[in-house]
Amino acid sequence: MLKNDMLEKWDRENFFHPSTHLAEFARGNVPHRVITGGQGCHIEDRDGNRMLDAFAGLYCVNVGYGRQDIAEAIAAQAKELAYYHAYVGHGTEASITLSKMVLDRAPEHMSKVYFGLSGSDANETNIKLVWYYNNVLGRPEKKKIISRWRGYHGSGLMTGSLTGLELFHKKFDLPFGQVIHTEAPYYYRRPDTAMTEADFTAHCAAELEALIEQEGADTIAAFIGEPILGTGGIVPPPAGYWEAIQAVLDKNDILLIADEVVTGFGRLGTMFGSTHYGLKPDLMTIAKGLTSAYAPLSGSIVSDKMWKVLEQGTDENGPIGHGWTYSAHPIGAAAGVANLKLIEELDLVGNAGRVGAYLNKVMAEAVGAHAHVGEVRGDGMLCAVELVEDRDNRTFFEASKKVGPSVAAALLEQGVIARAMPQGDILGYAPPFCLTEAEADEIADKTATAIKTVLG
Ligand code: PLP
Repeated sequence: MLKNDMLEKWDRENFFHPSTHLAEFARGNVPHRVITGGQGCHIEDRDGNRMLDAFAGLYCVNVGYGRQDIAEAIAAQAKELAYYHAYVGHGTEASITLSKMVLDRAPEHMSKVYFGLSGSDANETNIKLVWYYNNVLGRPEKKKIISRWRGYHGSGLMTGSLTGLELFHKKFDLPFGQVIHTEAPYYYRRPDTAMTEADFTAHCAAELEALIEQEGADTIAAFIGEPILGTGGIVPPPAGYWEAIQAVLDKNDILLIADEVVTGFGRLGTMFGSTHYGLKPDLMTIAKGLTSAYAPLSGSIVSDKMWKVLEQGTDENGPIGHGWTYSAHPIGAAAGVANLKLIEELDLVGNAGRVGAYLNKVMAEAVGAHAHVGEVRGDGMLCAVELVEDRDNRTFFEASKKVGPSVAAALLEQGVIARAMPQGDILGYAPPFCLTEAEADEIADKTATAIKTVLG
């Protein structure tokens, strides 16, 4: 247990926390928490509370906490060579090995991986690569990016624009004009309840086509999407969605960026969401699961088709003007190598598929019939419970009632962490891949109790 009793004061006086109500935190009205340790699917705080982390941090500690293999790989790399840059052809054994391991696991048509630090910066890289690509091809007008409402792609300037959630735009002068949003593939919130999944898929594709026609295909460079909507509510796509969307993109010569920050390296019980749902992306964004968050590292995986044009671009214009001091940081790369090895050795992708399906089943059994549960949905080791005022009409609760956060707080009281997703009253679950069936049962049972406590 930490003995420093100044921590709370220092925290409230000095620390600018992300995604936090700044004023309430400074005033002391929002809890401050000091996390001190973790093992498997559990974390511990400095007061000795042990919690089952059913959101794996921010759906990133995929192999679970306390993995000594990864910690040792990080320590060994730090002792041998903590840093050297990756500019003008430099590398380390770890970064080169990791690039091979990533490409060995990626779909066959992918060619190279550029390493960054976060999902946000990887998506910024992707947008720059798309623009570069179209400039090299002599299409300077083809630059707009289509994203989806409820998509989440980061909180930088361009990536915050791509994100289709109001909180990330309001008061930040976002989204930028080059970004346009289309319908979220959110079947539960379809415009007409009579629509079948196939009807709704056709509707989403038609909306996309109409948008492209309105803007002009020769002004649109790329479409970005998470294979399964994550932060926007953990929403699996309706049947046939990606096939229909890709047909529209292909027809209009629009690139596809698959944002695999959540789905990459096993969360759906398959190595990538793209293979899971049949996407053939031109770029893939990876981050969280690449190192299971043991060190910050992200990546942009570039397809053969785009890579050829990037090479042409450097032949014509000289070295690519893109890179960060910490691109392919050796410590992140060492964590990535150890993490991917561990995932394979322990068959954690297989476990994510098996226990994830079990979690979705027991959650539906535990809470699905409650009068305020509109839907239980998910895929692989992702699950969501959407709470509604009126089940028959799918009516939202008043946002001011904070139903989602209250249920998450009631769940935390019982020692289980779920995430109240930022838009709507949706509880999200994305546990580490090493979750057991007994832990899945605990999550579902305690969720039922929490919902009962708040909503009766
Ligand atoms: N893309 C997706 C799909 C994400 O879920 C996230 C983060 O949750 C990001 C991008 C941004 O990643 P980061 O927070 O590492 O910048």
